[in-house]
Order: sequence, then structure tokens, then C-alpha cells
Amino acid sequence: MAIKNIAIGGISTECSSYSPLSQNKDDFASVRGQELLNLVDFPFLEHGINAHPLFFNKSVPGGPIERQYFDQIKNQFISEINALGKLDGILLLMHGAIYVEGIEDPEGEWISSVRKIVGPQCIISVSYDLHGQITDKIIKNIDAFAAFKTAPHVDVKETYQRSALMLTQSIIENYRPYVVWSRIPVLVSGEMSSTFVEPCKSIYQELDQYNQQNHILDCNLLVGYVWADTNRATASSVVTCTNPNSGSKVCAKIANAYWNNRHHLKFDMTYGNIEDALDWVKGDFSIIADSGDNPTAGGVGDRADILKAVLNKNLKNVLFAGIASKSAYDSIKVSNTFTIGGTFGGGGPSLNLKADSVYFKNQCAVVNISGSVIIISKLRRPFHYLQDFIDLNINLENYKILVVKSGYLSPELQSLSAPSFMALTNGSVNQDLITLKNNNRMKNTFPFQDFQDYIPEVSDGENLVNQ
Ligand SMILES: [Zn+2]
Repeated sequence: MAIKNIAIGGISTECSSYSPLSQNKDDFASVRGQELLNLVDFPFLEHGINAHPLFFNKSVPGGPIERQYFDQIKNQFISEINALGKLDGILLLMHGAIYVEGIEDPEGEWISSVRKIVGPQCIISVSYDLHGQITDKIIKNIDAFAAFKTAPHVDVKETYQRSALMLTQSIIENYRPYVVWSRIPVLVSGEMSSTFVEPCKSIYQELDQYNQQNHILDCNLLVGYVWADTNRATASSVVTCTNPNSGSKVCAKIANAYWNNRHHLKFDMTYGNIEDALDWVKGDFSIIADSGDNPTAGGVGDRADILKAVLNKNLKNVLFAGIASKSAYDSIKVSNTFTIGGTFGGGGPSLNLKADSVYFKNQCAVVNISGSVIIISKLRRPFHYLQDFIDLNINLENYKILVVKSGYLSPELQSLSAPSFMALTNGSVNQDLITLKNNNRMKNTFPFQDFQDYIPEVSDGENLVNQ
């Protein structure tokens, strides 16, 4: 059998349309070559498939992508595909929550451009984040689809491999799968739809059972991304199948399961405002999540709202990890005074402070002030791994409170088993959803509107499919 050829690549980020920051090439890291093959880690060659790595560009979530950069990187992707000649398949690694001013459906643009260049015969298999958005334009241009089934995400590589397996099987067994989808008019934050607690835990477990049915290859529920005010923003169910009617039945069942549980979607953590959070702290070591400014969801990460409250209350042994401020980082290099809070444009209070002591490491200033410590990072970044603290010579045992820019805690922070509280703070990813500006989302989307009537419609991207 002649060797088959596929390409691998894509782009991944989340863009809050409420963020004042825009993203361009400086925000993205590019994974290429063997590193990209390692990321997917699938034995293509054993199946007689030559996998050509293109690039996978990924950023810390943020604001809208600049139009010029989006067009340029998409065109580069297309020209790299073109340079490979005829392809039997392509594995697209996407997230699904890009926002570009003036482009209604950025992933749809990307994927349809790929389809145009690879032609109708090439199998396109897509891997997605469950916080991504789906449209008819996306579905009609793809042949297989798999999204993460865990949030927080602990199945990233497995998801790449599900997409890679469907791609490989359809190429070597010479068949073409179908993808069907249904829009579900529900849009909540990831913090309200963790797959580790009910109701999503059971709904996601059901996906694995549906996967056992005849003609069903891969079932998905996408929660969507709530902090972009766009028409395409909703949850969705997506099924890859070998028979569209079988796929359609399952797709509608998943949509109904999520819809019927919409009133049960709620935060998996104790939550309240900043005052509530500081009053709640009692034990030896507790974690407060500054959720409205969480950079891994698209927040700026520069706000000092909780810092201000802690200083006003004169609390000691609090570790802030971190607050992003290039200007504060630069000024503390030359003097012990600095201004922090909203210096990247994220808003909130601006504080003029004086450091008692400071040291610098990994583009961070670790500042001691009034018995607490602030990690001032030169760049926007999360502190979600325990190694982040070890790298800065910080021992968490020395603190009473850890304040992180986060929504639900990362798996490593959860592993500390510390009492945790989600502060519903202001910022680009505000969890108080119904207060968000809502000009473009489809009317009748829960919880922006509460309504009763919903019957799932399943589409193959061009036509409705009978259930
Ligand atoms: Zn996600």
C-alpha cells in the first residue's frame, strides 16, 4: 500500500471581547517539527502514514486577535499546506474561541480556507477545546471531530489522539465519517460547568456510553466560551458518526441532557465578593481565586482589587501570585516605590506602594510589603503549577492565604487540598454573567434569558438531519 500523507497544525487561544488588550504575533508561541509530533504522540508511521508537522500556535488567553495577524498567520498556514502537495488528511488542533473584530467566525474562516486548499477528498479531523464555538461553516468543512471531555482539562493529549485515530482509520480503511451538531442555547462559564462535579460529570460520562453504539465514533458536548459577545456563542453537541441519522439521534440526546440541567449549573467552589472572601479565611492555609481577572480564561491579570482590600484590612502572610505589571517591574528595579493595578489596561484600583524588600527571578519581582508578598510578573501569566512557586524560591507553607488569578483551581493547586474560595471580582472575565454587555449573542440564550421552549435541531452543516 502506498504511503499516505497528512499534515498537523492549528491555532489555539481564548479571546475575551471584554479585554482591552489585543493579541498579535508576540503573544503566540509556535510548536513545530518533532515537538509538534511529540505533542500529538500518535504512531502514524505504524499505520503507513507520513505525518508532516506544520505549526501549532498557542497563546495565554487574552483579548481579541488583531485582524492583520489573524489573516497573516492563516495565510501562512495555508501556504505551508500548499507546499506539501497532495494530502490524504489533515489533523487540525484548534481551540474554538478566537475573536477577531470584523470576522464573525474565525475558526470557520480558518477551516474553510484549509478545505479550499486541500480539496474535497482530503479527510479533515479536528481536535477542539470544550470551551470552543461551533458553526455550520465549521461542520460542513470537516470529517471528524473530538473535543476535550474534562474541564479543568486533563485529557488534552487523549483528545489529540482521538482525532488522530479517526483520521488514521478513515484514511487506511477508506471511508468518510460524518459530523453532525446541534446548537444548545445555554452559555455559562467553565467554573459553572466543571466536568468533575454534577450535573456535567454524569452528562460527560454518558458520552462514553453513546460512543459504544453502532455507527457512533465520537460524541462531544461543548460548553462554549461566555466572554465573547458574538452571535455564534452557545453550547453545542457534536457527534462524529458513520451514519448521520444515528449520529443525529445521539446528538439531540446530548443537547437535551445539557439543556434539562441548565438550572443546576453552578460554581463548584464557595464564592462571594472580596469582603466575603477575606471574612471567610480562618484556617492555616487557604486559597482565594481572583476569578474576574483570570488570565487563563482571557483576563488581563493586572488588577489589584484584592491586594487593596488585604492592605486595608492589614492582613499578614498573604501571597499574591501574581499581578502582572511591566511598569511596576521596571520601576522596582531602580527604586523601592512602584504603582500597581491596571497598568496593562485591565482597570480596578491603582496603588502607590513601597517595597520592604525585593528579589528578582524569572521575569518576576518578588516583593515583600507589610508582611505579605506580591509576585509582580513582567508579563501576563498564570501561577497554576507548584513548580512556578519552587522556581521563585517560594514555600507556600509560609503563607496563610494564597491569592491566585484563577477561576476553578488548576489540578495542581487543587492537589494541595486547601480550603478555597472564588472571589467574584471585576475584570475581563467577570463571572457575574448576566451583567455582561450582551449585544450580539443569539436572543434566547440561558442565563441571559430564561425560557422554556427548546427542541434540538441537528445539522450536518448544510441541512437539518432527521433524528
Ligand atoms: Zn478550555
